[in-house]
Amino acid sequence: MSKQTHSFQAEVQQILHLVTHSLYSNKEIFLRELVSNASDACDKLRFEALDAAALYEDQPNLDIRIFFDADAKTLTIRDNGIGMSADEAVAHLGTIAKSGTREFMSRLSGDQKKDANLIGQFGVGFYSGFIVAERMTVETRRAGLSADQGVRWSSAGTGDFEVEAVTKPARGTDVILHLRDDEAEFLSTWKLKSIVSKYSDHISLPILMKKEEWDAEAKKQVVKDEWETVNKAAAVWTRSKSDVTDAEYQDFYKQISYDSEAPLAYTHNRVEGRTEYTQLLYVPAKAPFDLWNRDKRGGVKLYVKRVFIMDDAEALMPVYLRFVKGVIDSADLPLNVSRELLQESRDVKAIREGSTKRVLSMLEDVAENQKDKYAEFWKQFGAVLKEGVGEDFANQERLAKLLRFASTQADEGVSFADYVGRMKEGQEAVYYITAETLAAAKGSPQLEVFRKKGLEVLLLTDRVDEWMLSHLYEFDGKPLQSVAKGAVDLGKLQDEAEKKQAEEAAEAFKPVLEKLQAALKDRAKDVRTTTRLVDSPACLVVEDGAMSAHLARMLKQAGQSAPAAQPILEVNPAHALVKRLDDAARFDDLAHLLFDQAVLAEGGQLEDPAAHVQRMTRLLTA
Ligand code: ADP
Repeated sequence: MSKQTHSFQAEVQQILHLVTHSLYSNKEIFLRELVSNASDACDKLRFEALDAAALYEDQPNLDIRIFFDADAKTLTIRDNGIGMSADEAVAHLGTIAKSGTREFMSRLSGDQKKDANLIGQFGVGFYSGFIVAERMTVETRRAGLSADQGVRWSSAGTGDFEVEAVTKPARGTDVILHLRDDEAEFLSTWKLKSIVSKYSDHISLPILMKKEEWDAEAKKQVVKDEWETVNKAAAVWTRSKSDVTDAEYQDFYKQISYDSEAPLAYTHNRVEGRTEYTQLLYVPAKAPFDLWNRDKRGGVKLYVKRVFIMDDAEALMPVYLRFVKGVIDSADLPLNVSRELLQESRDVKAIREGSTKRVLSMLEDVAENQKDKYAEFWKQFGAVLKEGVGEDFANQERLAKLLRFASTQADEGVSFADYVGRMKEGQEAVYYITAETLAAAKGSPQLEVFRKKGLEVLLLTDRVDEWMLSHLYEFDGKPLQSVAKGAVDLGKLQDEAEKKQAEEAAEAFKPVLEKLQAALKDRAKDVRTTTRLVDSPACLVVEDGAMSAHLARMLKQAGQSAPAAQPILEVNPAHALVKRLDDAARFDDLAHLLFDQAVLAEGGQLEDPAAHVQRMTRLLTA
């Protein structure tokens, strides 16, 4: 192949521009990115060699070497991993295959530290070399190809790059950075070692550099022709807990998550027994931008006996824990395990169950001992955890204890246990209401009698709440009862006098009720009197077991047809507006107005707003 010139894909050009201009203040990350690519290339070789040992070409010891030539001002990162064919070099180093590029660009914040973290997240790592290099040359040969099938890729990081065939006896890739004149600081063993230990200590392959020694005669450090390992080369999770410092756990988290913030909590365990594995799992402090994408694969990497198998092994964590990051290293799974096999494996099932329990224990611990931290966690991930209530029946009770709500007593942080602890003598159920916003929930007429009697009501405003509650019926033996469903039966909480009074009022109101039922027969399934209301004239409720109006609205918004169950109109016979129903001439307008008000009060929309306005006008001008 003679020398060919290719243009970078337009996106690459943009990325190149951004990378070189916006990341300068954090330029040393280029080494982290290139070492990480080298390590990935070795992982890939190991993985492919599982079925084709010949790929090792009798060189099974994988490592990464970093060396420089101070005179030529070049810095080389060499690996003996999988390498690239000519086609691969053109494709991988000239285009960005991932759809995330535009996303990446739109997320650049101008804050250089944050942007630097994005670089890894979106896989534009290679191009970070251009932060310090005026030209990058890559010499590579794919494992299994012959020595004359090597390729040299070279670019100044502007519009195009060149490729040509070269002879490359050694398998793998050399990334050669031709450093800019003012980047001489990277031509120093000491400097490079310190960057490696800062960012790449956890890489489980040896990273080698040439030894440097003091030459007494020359009175200076001289580079020897002898290699030494400069990283710990022991992955954090393989070390014993007592040997790993908190800082090391945090650094490792930042490596695998590309999160610049420290994690909220982590757990590291070696599990022995029928299935043996090690888990190092983290809960991030902040939700990622794509938390709501349930199809997103998980953040847990699978290793088998320290060999990297795959990223994002979603079979290892339930969907509702998709925010968990970390590593699981199994001692039992076959090395050539595929995603399909993972789904079926009993060992994987045991690992998932064990890891789920671990994460829940970790959260329970935070909830118990670090309440502020837990409140923060809840803000970020609470709504996702709620999905678990409906998806993970085995852990439903534990999950229910981890839930936090707003209530009529506190705007946040109320657990079921708090609620139960505050229940009134004679109160048998946990009361709740669902609504679109906290303000709408607080203003619900259905709450009035509960307020009056000092009964706490949970105010649920997350989209998943309705769905969650269709899977959770009780807590600690106490049924969960919507205050907007069914007739209110406060049971023992109402005294005899109150009950009697209500019955009498209902009796006296019967003739009006019948007229109301007739007037509203197309809108309400039934009309009845209630003791639920104190200050409001009327409210809507649905039958026990029927879909709440809130859920029906959500389904409609989501474009699903919701079977429109007619609500029941409940009226407060003691209310002045209801008393005005005596006025036979305005009865019909007042009846519909009562209904319309009840719809509006619960955040609903009127089906015929014009009719409502006409009625109002008639009533106001009469
Ligand atoms: P990412 O590593 O996130 O995919 P990069 O821009 O860093 O993004 O690299 C692009 C691609 O180039 C990699 O996915 C890989 O296929 C290839 N590549 C980069 N460095 C190496 C290497 N040292 N050996 C083999 N392939 C490499």
